[in-house]
Amino acid sequence: MPEPAPLPPGIEARLAEIVGTAHLDVGAEIGPDDMADECLSCEPTRPLAVVRPSSTAEVSALLALADREGIPVTARGAGTGLSGGCVPRPDGLVIHFSRMDRILEIDADNFVAIVEPGVQLDQLDEALAPLGFIYPVYPGETSASLGGNVNTNAGGMRAVKYGVTRHNVLGVEAVLASGEIIECGGKPIKNSTGYDLTQLIIGSEGTLAFVTKATLRLQPRPAFAATILAPFDTLDEVTRAVPKVVSSGIAPALLEYIDMATMALMIANGGLDLGIPDDVRAGALAYLVVQLENADEDRLEEDTMRLGESLVELGATDVYVLPPGAAESLIGAREKAFWLAKSAGADDLLDVVVPRASMSVFMERVQKLADESGTRIPGCGHAGDGNVHMAVFQSDPEVRTTVMRRIFEVAIELGGAISGEHGLGKEKRKYFLELESPEKVALMRRIKAAFDPKGILNPGTVL
Ligand SMILES: Cc1cc2nc3c(=O)[nH]c(=O)nc-3n(C[C@H](O)[C@H](O)[C@H](O)COP(=O)(O)OP(=O)(O)OC[C@H]3O[C@@H](n4cnc5c(N)ncnc54)[C@H](O)[C@@H]3O)c2cc1C
Repeated sequence: MPEPAPLPPGIEARLAEIVGTAHLDVGAEIGPDDMADECLSCEPTRPLAVVRPSSTAEVSALLALADREGIPVTARGAGTGLSGGCVPRPDGLVIHFSRMDRILEIDADNFVAIVEPGVQLDQLDEALAPLGFIYPVYPGETSASLGGNVNTNAGGMRAVKYGVTRHNVLGVEAVLASGEIIECGGKPIKNSTGYDLTQLIIGSEGTLAFVTKATLRLQPRPAFAATILAPFDTLDEVTRAVPKVVSSGIAPALLEYIDMATMALMIANGGLDLGIPDDVRAGALAYLVVQLENADEDRLEEDTMRLGESLVELGATDVYVLPPGAAESLIGAREKAFWLAKSAGADDLLDVVVPRASMSVFMERVQKLADESGTRIPGCGHAGDGNVHMAVFQSDPEVRTTVMRRIFEVAIELGGAISGEHGLGKEKRKYFLELESPEKVALMRRIKAAFDPKGILNPGTVL
């Protein structure tokens, strides 16, 4: 790590005036946690300074100063991103939203919550549970912040039923690079008044504006849930079963696939006891995990029976309705699959999305590319959304880049995209710029310039 770089003269004093010296770190005071996220292939980078504002007014003053001085600024939530979106620039500032962590309002009549960006998912869930609500977007890492979720358009396991962040955020307050504050959307569930700036900002990875409040759509907390685990002899049968389960009318709340290698790691590391006989496990090349929810216990039981029967018709070698403890452990282990891949030495991570009915062809072509290049690509994913998370084990960077580019090309050929939910960050940006249509990239650059004319917001991310 190079020596800490100094701030331009006078800037440290101005930053301290805005946030207070206790909330400003410079040089060697900046710890490793503020230099990286969970991206496997990004280099940690020490910024010039890290500031922790406590209000929208402070964010506005910080951005106005940075814009005047032409200093790049990166927004940081909880740093759990997987694409390097919040990895700082060595010549820039980090605005860390950890102090803006208040739940400002839970409006039970309108089914909305208004939160500051530093609120974490588990913190919000704790506040909503006693009131009988959920905020249904639940990516695997519950320490993630709502500001990060909004800016990556986070998805997670329940997207198959409730949609992703984009479908559950009704409005934002955001600060432009100039320091101007805008309010877009709000509590109403519809709005057809000019361009939808809320939707433009969602998923923009801190490159258009910094989000200082979000209005979230809530749902009733489901009373009853049942989780089915179904082993299959082939991954192909699993991926072919997915569209049929989705169109069966049973409306799963969660529909995940786990391949054999990933399941073996989860069982070995998580001490999972799923009650599956050894001979069934030995023959299973992939699994489907399906969770159903209902407000009525009898209806849930009926749906569970029906689902079990159709899974067997679709080729499952057996069907296990998991007791609540085992279900929770399995879903918890699935959420933590990233850490297993990381500790097993994965070199990179894919988050490709394809139309769900094309998953079978996609997986077949990925396997072929893996075999041809001597790369190991095990995975699991949000099968109900056609969104696969694959760990790439290939130590030769050139071969790895070639294989990953080919996988992205295949996904795009099938009508899919490079990222389903993790975003492009600094990591997948090169593939995006190479493979996306130049006309669309040029339009995105013009949009970026309209929001951020000097290009100070998170440069090097997305574009
Ligand atoms: C074990 C594990 C499991 C995961 N599972 C999932 C999953 O199932 N689904 C999923 O979608 N993701 C998943 N993720 C990825 C990650 O949790 C999400 O991307 C999450 O949305 C990141 O939130 P964060 O607060 O950590 O954001 P950060 O990593 O801090 O930032 C992410 C991006 O948002 C920008 N940003 C942050 N706050 C703001 C703000 N206030 N204004 C403007 N820009 C901002 C940053 O600059 C960066 O570009 C997982 C990660 C881990 C480690």
